[in-house]
Amino acid sequence: MRSPMSSQDSEDLRSALMRAEELRREIEHHAYRYYALDTPEISDAAYDSLVRELESIEGEFPELITADSPTQRVGSAPSSQFAPVQHASRLYSLDNAMDLDELDVWLRRTIESAGIRPCEFVCELKIDGSSLSLTYDDALLMRAATRGDGRVGEDVTANVRTIRDVPLRLRTSASPGSPVEVRGEVYLPKASFERLNAEQDLAGSAPFANPRNAAAGSLRQKDPGVTASRDLATFLYAVGEPRALGLASQTEVLTWLRDAGFRVNPDVKSCADADAVRAFCSAALEKRDSLPYEIDGVVVKVDSLALQDELGYTSKAPRWAIAYKFPPEEKTTVLRDIVLQVGRTGAITPVAEFTPVVVAGSTIARATLHNEDEVARKDVRIGDTIVVRKAGDVIPEVVGPVLGLRPPEAEPWRLPESCPSCAGPIWREEGEVASRCTNVACPAQRLERLAHWASRGAADIDGMGYEIVTRLVETGLLHDVSDYYALTNDRLASLDTGRLRVDGSVITLGDTIAEKLVASIDVSRKRPLSRLLFGLGIRHVGSTVAEALVGAFGSIDTVAAAAAATPPLPGDGLTIAAARAADPLASVDGIGPKIAASIRAFFANPDNVAVIARLRDAGVVLAEERQAPTRTQTLTGLTFVLTGALTRYTRDIAGAALKELGAKVSGSVSKKTSFVVAGEDAGSKYDKAVELGVPVLSEEDLVRIIETGEPHASGGAQ
Ligand code: AMP
Ligand code: ZN
Repeated sequence: MRSPMSSQDSEDLRSALMRAEELRREIEHHAYRYYALDTPEISDAAYDSLVRELESIEGEFPELITADSPTQRVGSAPSSQFAPVQHASRLYSLDNAMDLDELDVWLRRTIESAGIRPCEFVCELKIDGSSLSLTYDDALLMRAATRGDGRVGEDVTANVRTIRDVPLRLRTSASPGSPVEVRGEVYLPKASFERLNAEQDLAGSAPFANPRNAAAGSLRQKDPGVTASRDLATFLYAVGEPRALGLASQTEVLTWLRDAGFRVNPDVKSCADADAVRAFCSAALEKRDSLPYEIDGVVVKVDSLALQDELGYTSKAPRWAIAYKFPPEEKTTVLRDIVLQVGRTGAITPVAEFTPVVVAGSTIARATLHNEDEVARKDVRIGDTIVVRKAGDVIPEVVGPVLGLRPPEAEPWRLPESCPSCAGPIWREEGEVASRCTNVACPAQRLERLAHWASRGAADIDGMGYEIVTRLVETGLLHDVSDYYALTNDRLASLDTGRLRVDGSVITLGDTIAEKLVASIDVSRKRPLSRLLFGLGIRHVGSTVAEALVGAFGSIDTVAAAAAATPPLPGDGLTIAAARAADPLASVDGIGPKIAASIRAFFANPDNVAVIARLRDAGVVLAEERQAPTRTQTLTGLTFVLTGALTRYTRDIAGAALKELGAKVSGSVSKKTSFVVAGEDAGSKYDKAVELGVPVLSEEDLVRIIETGEPHASGGAQ
């Protein structure tokens, strides 16, 4: 603090204040020209120099820093990050038209509803990003939120402030008196997406499947500095309450947004009829590849807000807009090889390896061919030119060969007879599509099982990536999952990573990583039992089955005991149902005879039993600490179905509260349903309840039941 203040000091402060304000106005102006209008007036260097001058003034006189200063994008207080935010009005999703015919149906119906009035459309590109809501009060950016479920989103203000094209202050000429909410899409340009994925790869992290996930992930960073480094950008396309701003059409909304300082996509077209809309859609598809950002379709909106109001909304989406989705992008490339992947249960999967191509925003070079039959059905051969695409725009897929380009020497592919890892025989059981390596000692299977234990849904050893697991196996430190718990700092730090320095010396893992790994290994000792059980990799025991087992048995020992009991066989007067009921495993909800047999086989193997014993000795917690129910089980025997949107709780939370009282919560209505709780916009489940005579409760009834634990709501059936 500079005190006491001399007249010279206050003179300095005053001129600094004036200069800072001048600079901010100037910087805002150029940022607007650059980001929103894409027509900069000055060079990047000149712009940077303005920012630096402002930074130096603010450095000298911190009291002059304002929240909307262009220097204050990163590092503002991380406003209760990711806290739930109730949207002022709902953010709807869009109905899709999967092809031009479906689009036509929508256009015709919409034009019909308009009757004699002219029905103009506005066509916009459908930006493949993540939706965003921005609230400005007194022209200042107060809050940024994700869409969430449309009613409640997450507060991402601190992160969104780092996105340079988002104005921290509305351009004053366009600023109204009361808070304004605007909406749009935040996205990652194609080039930045590729770069980010290359970096992820270097860091050993999983790449993002598509730009949309990358944008959403970048927005949900704990550290705004990370978001700032991600190069996110926005296109705004909607205003929460357009009528409050005196706007009468989508065209006017877009103009208002542009004037207010937002980036608005320039590829917008007013279309007077269906032909013009179709023409825009085909043109958009044509230019898709040449755009610097990813689009996945065209959004067609009724221009007039009055007409929009009349058309209204379904429970999910406006009737006045539709998203025309592009057909999945397909590319051709050359099939270099078909290799075999051995899964942790020995399943052998043929995988196509082809020349890398960019499809729907990311580079792909491999795609699963699932099984032998699938390769035969598609008749793809090594050397073929093949068509590839991404299923659901995420998972790479081989569509088929281009027969005209088949090299004459290309031979039909056949599944090799032996495992690429252990050279053991590959078996295919009658009636099964999958082929397997049945050698339990197969190194490839072992590696997969070990990596599976460390993975997210299992023991979740943070940082223990596939590569490190591979090295640990290769260097003989890891044979079975219990070996993880014998790893020490020293052993890990000196682990040869298999990489070499330029001088030829080997690169070891090092102390920092080793320490982190030891810490995450320790944490993994106390993962929920269902995860650990899943992590053991028992065939057919996925995470849901594992949860069911833990729910029924509570500890590994009791599961093992149940597995050791010999189940009665049906026949001799014992029906299949009775046999199943007498089998402690198969009588668990969600576990059939096939799963039960697989669990038995697992526990019958002494090697597996030994691994479990070693895990226990290593301090891994193999029993669920069951908490005594904290609430009286007043709802035991009752089954609830929740449908429609609730305002007080999310459905998950309401469901959990009901379960805490002993109720069952189910996803579908049947005669056995005790109550259907119908929130807003309840759909077919409500109808089904009425049809079956199942009592329907309101949200208020539900709240009362949860609060009092009293099963009978006064309102009762409707
Ligand atoms: P979908 O997620 O496929 O159901 O599509 C709906 C989403 O498209 C909306 O939630 C928006 O986030 C996004 N979107 C992208 N571009 C636009 C646009 N120009 N107008 C409206 N929504 C858009
Ligand atoms: Zn094998």
